[in-house]
Amino acid sequence: MSVIYHRVALIGLGLIAGSMAHAMRRAGLAGEIVGTARSAETRKIAAEIGLCDRVVETAAEAVAGADLVVLAVPVGAMGAVAEEISPHLKPGATLTDVGSVKRAVIDAVAPHIPEGVHFIPAHPLAGTEHSGPRAGFAELFDNRWCLLVPVEGTDPAATARLRALWEGMGANVEEMDADHHDLVLAVTSHAPHLIAYTMVGVADDLGRVTDSEVIKYSAAGFRDFTRIAASDPTMWRDVFLNNKEATLEILGRFTEELFALQRAIRTGDGEMLHDYFTRTRAIRRGIIEAGQDTEAPDFGRVKERR
Ligand code: NAP
Repeated sequence: MSVIYHRVALIGLGLIAGSMAHAMRRAGLAGEIVGTARSAETRKIAAEIGLCDRVVETAAEAVAGADLVVLAVPVGAMGAVAEEISPHLKPGATLTDVGSVKRAVIDAVAPHIPEGVHFIPAHPLAGTEHSGPRAGFAELFDNRWCLLVPVEGTDPAATARLRALWEGMGANVEEMDADHHDLVLAVTSHAPHLIAYTMVGVADDLGRVTDSEVIKYSAAGFRDFTRIAASDPTMWRDVFLNNKEATLEILGRFTEELFALQRAIRTGDGEMLHDYFTRTRAIRRGIIEAGQDTEAPDFGRVKERR
């Protein structure tokens, strides 16, 4: 594949930016990758492992002369970073972000975009519970979705170029409106994370089951909650603070369903429980058929252990 952006600046060097650097290199999509992070420690590690072609100290330095600037910091930090880099952006450059929430990021970043710079928010639907400059890998986006959320009046050629970059990194790309994005993600990602955090918290608080029992017998479902609940605390705090409305709407519905299931258990309504679980099993089948997860038992871990 050929170079899509002559120079790419990555602001923040964690899981997502690191994976982008690896994936861009894999396909030769960037002429040069320049990166920066808030802490000297992260910049040092990134330089040591050769994550970017150049690691620089400030975001202003990183964006100078860049054709594509990627904000890959927690959602709550996007506005301040945009303000800092705004006077240094090259005319005609594209500014994008990878934040898990879109409306709040647009509200925080858009006021700082200078005339002649294309702002195209994005969100790759791929991740792991790991973070930091060593967490990234080239395959993270392969066959995963990346949603582009262009604001009104965006130049279609600039959007097409960003789409080509994500496709070159292995992703399938779709465009979506910001509010719809936030609702979809509240259902598919944000509320499930909160539920996992809660379940792990409950197990931790429950004095009648010892910590060693929880760990020892966790294969019975709990283990998958612990993986999700190990996700980065700063990132997830910011997600909930910035996607309040949609998350609260979904959690409200979740609570209603939970009460209905609770009542079915109390009243011995086996038919209700069976019907409900039959419906949810079909959703799992749909995810596998769409190629978004493995059909292997226990997510393929059975094979791994052999
Ligand atoms: P990460 O591994 O924790 O890395 C975050 C980076 O942002 C680090 O380089 C960190 O610098 C920097 N940073 C943190 N707070 C900052 C601040 N206040 N100002 C400036 N820089 C700051 O995070 P990530 O998983 O790559 O997530 C980055 C973005 O991608 C987030 O907006 C997240 O919502 C989104 N996202 C995440 C996932 C996922 O599953 N992880 C999936 C899709 C999208 P230091 O290391 O120097 O602290």
